[in-house]
Amino acid sequence: MFKRVLVANRGEIAIRIIRACKELGIEPVAVYSTADKQSMHAKIADRSICIGPPQPNKSYLNINNIIAAAEVTNCDALHPGYGFLSENPSLVESCTKNDITFIGPPRDAIMLAGNKSKAIEVMRQNRIPVIPGSIGNISDLRQAAKISKRIGYPVIIKASFGGGGKGMRICNNQKELSDFLSIAISESRSSFGTEEVYIEKYIPKPRHIEFQIVADNFGNIRCAGERECSIQRRHQKLIEEAPACILNGKLRKIMSETAVRAAQSIGYQNLGTIEFLLDGNHNFYFIEINTRIQVEHPVTEMVTGMDLVKEQIKMAAGQKLRDREWGKNNGVAFEFRINAEDSQNNFSPSPGKITDYYLPGGPGVRIDTFIHSNYTISPFYDSLIAKLIVWGNDRREAISRSSRALEEFTIQGIKTTIPFYHKILKNEKFMEGNIHTHFIEEELGV
Ligand code: ADP
Repeated sequence: MFKRVLVANRGEIAIRIIRACKELGIEPVAVYSTADKQSMHAKIADRSICIGPPQPNKSYLNINNIIAAAEVTNCDALHPGYGFLSENPSLVESCTKNDITFIGPPRDAIMLAGNKSKAIEVMRQNRIPVIPGSIGNISDLRQAAKISKRIGYPVIIKASFGGGGKGMRICNNQKELSDFLSIAISESRSSFGTEEVYIEKYIPKPRHIEFQIVADNFGNIRCAGERECSIQRRHQKLIEEAPACILNGKLRKIMSETAVRAAQSIGYQNLGTIEFLLDGNHNFYFIEINTRIQVEHPVTEMVTGMDLVKEQIKMAAGQKLRDREWGKNNGVAFEFRINAEDSQNNFSPSPGKITDYYLPGGPGVRIDTFIHSNYTISPFYDSLIAKLIVWGNDRREAISRSSRALEEFTIQGIKTTIPFYHKILKNEKFMEGNIHTHFIEEELGV
């Protein structure tokens, strides 16, 4: 096992990794920017080291500073968390060069997953169902129009190197395609540094269902169940749940076996997520692989009893997967992303000082956060300030427990997404599990 791990992240995920390290008897070393000097993750680690000024590209995205921090503190491994450099192949290369184990998949898997159109192509070749669309990237409008006509409108233009729900344009007809293609290309260039875009058939009101893959370094690949992430706003997840209530035993089995096959086809190692869209006729299609721990991993932990971050560390240290009842769930769990955003004002960012707060508790309630009284939310970083994770024996209990936990949850001084979730939990269709990726737009009009 590792002796000392550099936690190359901030916020709740840094704390989550520090906790796992401590429980495994590993010394966690935190990194922080000058804006985060007083942050909880920097306080609770065994050691913490400053890696630069508040701007992410000068600190949390600066590979040289991060590797230097690992070197001077003699870390033998590095955990990247999610976001920031977690899916950056250059960080993996730098770790390898400096004899530091990267806690994540091999560089080649990250490279492939980062190029979404290429990943789809590899999956297609391995007979994993994919959405009808362009084979590889689109080179010009003529080709885009020809493909769109063949697959039928609406279509979606996606940035090959896109992520975080950004870089997508829906086109309902050829006129929109010709209007949006050049915009999509220039957005891709400015946000992701390349002009590579591809086209897919746009699936109306799909459900987003993703499978948690756990793989050791010896070719053993298993699926730890699925999460449904259909409650999204502008393609960004807000509420996730496990298991997905739409799946029956047979469909779950087929989808999880397909997810394992997808991971096997690229020799995957460590933790990963295979994302699918499920259409109204229960056809499912691969959309992408995420090669990191996901924000929503706790819902899987709540229903499986696994500690995914510990698994991740153990596998990177060369341990073999243990036998367990893979695919067995106990109860239902929800995660609510508590963002510092004003949900009554177009979800605009709401940085500032938390003057007071109260965290909910009681049976089945877990909170992953880094906030404390008088903590000032920095405008430099992501708006996620807490995750409320709620478990119940069944979906009905999980929903009523979520309502009471959200009622208890108080954050003063800034606006958060808490009031918005009350509205969702009261919605009949949500209660029935009748959800899809346009649910928020249709039911709540935002
Ligand atoms: P990102 O990596 O930016 O999260 P994804 O490819 O995972 O992008 O897609 C994010 C979300 O966008 C999906 O959960 C879904 O809501 C929507 N989406 C993506 N592709 C399609 C599609 N072909 N049809 C309908 N919705 C889609």
